[in-house]
Amino acid sequence: MQPPSVDAIARSIADLGLPHPLAVDAARAAIAAGEPDAARSYGESLARRQLQSVINATGVLLHTNLGRAPLRPGEAAVRYANVELDLVSGERGSRQRPVGPLLARLLDTDDALVVNNGAAALLLALSALASGRRVVVSRGDLIEIGGGFRLPEILGASGAQLVEVGTTNRTRLSDFQRAVDGDVAAAVLKVHHSNFHMVGFTEEVTVAQLATVGSTVIVDIGSGLLDARVPWLDGPAPSWLAGEPAARQTLAQGADLVTFSGDKLLGGPQAGIVAGRAELVEACARLPLARALRPGGLVLGELERTLLAYLRNDGDAIPFWKMAGQSLEALRGRAAALVRAAGAGAVVDTEAAAGGGSVPGVAIPSAGVTVDGDWRRALRDNDPPIVARAERGRTIFDLRTVDPDDDGELAAALALTTERRDPADVRAT
Ligand SMILES: *Cc1c(COP(=O)(O)O)cnc(C)c1O
Repeated sequence: MQPPSVDAIARSIADLGLPHPLAVDAARAAIAAGEPDAARSYGESLARRQLQSVINATGVLLHTNLGRAPLRPGEAAVRYANVELDLVSGERGSRQRPVGPLLARLLDTDDALVVNNGAAALLLALSALASGRRVVVSRGDLIEIGGGFRLPEILGASGAQLVEVGTTNRTRLSDFQRAVDGDVAAAVLKVHHSNFHMVGFTEEVTVAQLATVGSTVIVDIGSGLLDARVPWLDGPAPSWLAGEPAARQTLAQGADLVTFSGDKLLGGPQAGIVAGRAELVEACARLPLARALRPGGLVLGELERTLLAYLRNDGDAIPFWKMAGQSLEALRGRAAALVRAAGAGAVVDTEAAAGGGSVPGVAIPSAGVTVDGDWRRALRDNDPPIVARAERGRTIFDLRTVDPDDDGELAAALALTTERRDPADVRAT
């Protein structure tokens, strides 16, 4: 018998819509596994793994596996962009120019620079201001964020020399004063405990206190809440934000530079921001490392759009804040409508979470729909994929993280659970 032709098999699955080289890969993988007839399912898995939009019904607002803050990928127009052209002068401009002043305005500070992520922002700041010099940090702040971000290692990579002061649970101003000792330390660094809490016999030094030490104060606030007063939401700041440091207030308290992520509580694309005193931001921008860490035009465009929404105090235009700000009554109403439309499930009160290593352990009151059985596998196979939670043999759809425009998709998926009865049956259909 002739060995099956890779090309013929690849063409037989052309209807999957994969680029031909990927269809060839699927055919090769199937043949290599001795099951050429399975090429279609290999191809389907390849297509399935591609980046695509997903309905997040977990109630985790900043879901690390789902790209943290929600964006509107469908709205990105396919066009060239004036990434480095100054449309006013016609000259080559800086890709940072449009966003730096917007951030400076929102934070009431001099200037800001955008890089790829929060880790890069801190690495750049330390490299620019403290390479080969001493940086004083409380032992309580020597944290690990996840995804390989460990503070001592970032400091090491920047060439700064870590000087630890205080103890895990208590550090005082005098500890910093002794370590800075005149002017030999390049900087003092404070890092927000984004993903854990210390309780009990604890003491830490505030930013305002650090500002009296007489050294450059760098604060990694992590999640990028822009302003503690949240003027972009109607009404007072949500109670679940309590304790989360805000960039504007941290600078007002005396930080010389703050660093934070773009895709946590800022609600923008993956990015990192360094903001503060002009000459320090300028020192960061001058470093060759800044070129290596610079963001692409797509990111800058999305970030600019997010910042313009903040400047208009329009929280509804920022998907994260729109979801975070929905009232419990509205969510319960949507859940009831969903149950009616699907003829399945029951309305439940749930606890959503900020997620993404922000605001640890704080529940955000929420509501959704629950059905019997663990349907997560079937829901991931749904088109569009739906990611839900399972608890004690039940599946829970938390509506806080679902765009109301997707309620119809959820109702259709929910209706299927009644037809199939048993989650295990789903693969056969
Ligand atoms: C999340 C976080 C980082 C890392 O930011 P990325 O954008 O994930 O690189 C650094 N520091 C703190 C305090 C954080 O919370």
